[in-house]
Amino acid sequence: MLILLRAGTPESAVADVTSRLRMLGLAVHRTDHENRVRIAAIGDGSPLDPDTLRQWPGVESVEKIPVPFKLVSRSFHPQNTVITVGRCAIGSDQLALMAGPCSVEGEEQVFRIAEAVARSGATVMRGGAFKPRTSPYSFQGLGEEGLKILRRAADAFGLAVVSEVMDTQQVALVARYADILQLGARNMQNFALLREVGHADQPVLLKRGLAATIEEWLMSAEHILSQGNSQVILCERGIRTFETYTRNTLDLNAIPVVKELSHLPVIVDPSHGTGIRNMVAPMARASIAAGADGLIIEVHHDPDHALSDGAQSLYPAQADAPGDGQHTIGYDQLVSQIRTIAAVLGRRI
Ligand code: PEP
Ligand code: MN
Repeated sequence: MLILLRAGTPESAVADVTSRLRMLGLAVHRTDHENRVRIAAIGDGSPLDPDTLRQWPGVESVEKIPVPFKLVSRSFHPQNTVITVGRCAIGSDQLALMAGPCSVEGEEQVFRIAEAVARSGATVMRGGAFKPRTSPYSFQGLGEEGLKILRRAADAFGLAVVSEVMDTQQVALVARYADILQLGARNMQNFALLREVGHADQPVLLKRGLAATIEEWLMSAEHILSQGNSQVILCERGIRTFETYTRNTLDLNAIPVVKELSHLPVIVDPSHGTGIRNMVAPMARASIAAGADGLIIEVHHDPDHALSDGAQSLYPAQADAPGDGQHTIGYDQLVSQIRTIAAVLGRRI
């Protein structure tokens, strides 16, 4: 139920409405918009009598929130959520540029890539220290040592850090080093993990599951918000379809859909979305044109020898790319193209 209080309702009356709702066994969440307090009162679905609620002092209107993802919805929270991380206000007119290797492999690799992506304009460094790998025989990540390297490199170049957390028991550890906790596609419906990061202080980057509908994805975000953490960044990273030419099918429809349904920022990962280096830049450009709030892109200086996802990693700079440079653009050139597209849309880097 969405309860709108009249403009100028004193805090004592707000507190009174809140405690009455709690006495009815409802969870109460508040947001303020255009001088009005908006309260989402969420229960187990048993019907409440809106006419009774309308009699309470301060109450202007009572309506149902017409979607199952109540706190994530624009009905509850009409204005865009803006999440400040380091130098970036994610969800504002500034685009969030996150970049770095798929996996943290070592000090030299991470410092080299951090320097390059920072110079190009990225504000957040990515890199996995705990890696969800299809094969148990593939590189599984450097763990805490990897997080330490990532933190040092990011600090050296003025970047924030995003890194994946795979397990409830890793949340405190990853939170010690990372500014944003990444929940990977394979864990989008790990409900224990969603609850755990719902209690964290850090923003959460929630990737869309490999075969998740938009509603399922938003419901996963709702789990996090319901625990008190409203700093969720949604990330479209491609879904499984019958198409085999690309690794996944990047669902750019999701951007305008999510923007309409939700106040949360949405970014795109065209690296996992395509799986092929030459496809990353076109889909990155398209994502920003479609209204995404940012990009997370895999970048590696020596992708042929990367321990994971080399085939979809961009070279840091156009000059690093082998061959005639016709098809492969470096991260630096992509960012300058993104800057131009952003300007057309009244946004910036
Ligand atoms: C990654 O970001 O390296 C990753 C494993 O992504 P996803 O969870 O989207 O597959
Ligand atoms: Mn990867």
